[in-house]
Amino acid sequence: LSDRLAETFKNLRTKGKLSASDVDGTVRDIRRALLEADVAFEVAKTFSTTVRERALGDEVNRALNPAQQVVQIVNEELVGILGGQQRRLEFAKNPPTVIMLAGLQGAGKTTLAGKLAKWLAKEGHTPLLVAADLQRPNAVTQLGVVAEQAGAAIFAPEPGNGVGDPVTVAKNSIKYARDKQYDTVIVDTAGRLGVDAEMMDQAARIRRAVDPDEVLFVIDAMTGQDAVATAKAFQDGVDFTGVVLSKLDGDARGGAALSVASMTGRPIIFASTGEGLDDFEPFHPDRMASRILDLGDILTLIEQAQSAFDEEEARKVAEKFATDTFTLDDFLTQMQQLRNMGSLKKMMGMLPGMGQMKQQLDGFDEREIVRTEAIIQSMTRAERVNPKLLNGSRRLRIARGSGMTVTDVNQLVARFEQAAKMMKTVAKGGVPQVPGMGPV
Ligand code: GDP
Ligand code: MG
Repeated sequence: LSDRLAETFKNLRTKGKLSASDVDGTVRDIRRALLEADVAFEVAKTFSTTVRERALGDEVNRALNPAQQVVQIVNEELVGILGGQQRRLEFAKNPPTVIMLAGLQGAGKTTLAGKLAKWLAKEGHTPLLVAADLQRPNAVTQLGVVAEQAGAAIFAPEPGNGVGDPVTVAKNSIKYARDKQYDTVIVDTAGRLGVDAEMMDQAARIRRAVDPDEVLFVIDAMTGQDAVATAKAFQDGVDFTGVVLSKLDGDARGGAALSVASMTGRPIIFASTGEGLDDFEPFHPDRMASRILDLGDILTLIEQAQSAFDEEEARKVAEKFATDTFTLDDFLTQMQQLRNMGSLKKMMGMLPGMGQMKQQLDGFDEREIVRTEAIIQSMTRAERVNPKLLNGSRRLRIARGSGMTVTDVNQLVARFEQAAKMMKTVAKGGVPQVPGMGPV
């Protein structure tokens, strides 16, 4: 996913002001990238519609750097879909806090039970692991191993006591935890390879028996388009209060994450990132969004934008515009800086309200900067400060001196005066009016 998006944003980056078709193209690319990453169709559609609306709106139009602003919008919307703020585990007012795990077989529930126990113990809690998966012969053994690794206690049916009923085991575990003063109970449950009614019914009965503070739905982050159907089946069958994404250490790019969080409206609370008990962390929506967008790329984009335009320099120039002391010398310095920066267009894209002006200057190329330089350098100091001194004969002399025509000189002076006037208005915070052009 991030490779595709990186490409999309790279294309955007070269733009100053964005046209509606730039935005449409970008949104189309984003949508395709999301679908390729197995984000559910509805989610991708809603997401791209929202991004498009915002990207065509005022906030981008007025932005210092429109392309950057679009990236920002995409990022914000991703974070929003992923749950916005980080959601913490809810603890019961009266211990024990009961956390029930649900999900398909192989999703990573039992492993998560161990991870949670270890993490909770580190936070000063006293967790009890409950073996309410009595479906597979070695399920209890597996939980026992995990509990030992985590240094946590386990509650399981007595060996030789028959298979036992998972609902009864779960129910008894709560009383046991209260008696023995365990403050958190983690109930591991059985899963099937596919959603099935009997398993769902058992999970629902366990839920009623233990009245959990949290029901965590564990889903393998590699799950493709099935993720939404599975999540919805669990939401209907048992319901859950939060999601845990497991196996995020694989190639998963977050398609399942985006879909599940968005389609169920339940926040992702934890991420599992490996087989070891320490490969586990609270889920941060902003970090996941960065992962999806490839933050490295975005940071580069922002750095480039910042280094290209020295803020102090910009402030000085703005002051000159405002106080009407902007001269042809400043104009030249600006232009030389622009050349150092690489692209005039880029610079204009970063100045607020400069869209129209940038368009006017679109035809500006390197050679034009060289010509401008030649003309201005042929003027006297006084003329550079006060272009009104430039009468007909002076213009002719300057044209000859710089190897240009009088028309070139006239155009340059006109352009300077217009620029100075527009920028003065902008510097004062107004909207420049250019005859025949309407507001910028
Ligand atoms: P359960 O059936 O839902 O209880 O799933 P398990 O906890 O037994 O995990 C199934 C398999 O996935 C095991 O081999 C685990 O080691 C592995 N596993 C669980 N979580 C992760 C994870 O975050 N990353 C990786 N790479 N493997 C995991
Ligand atoms: Mg298990």
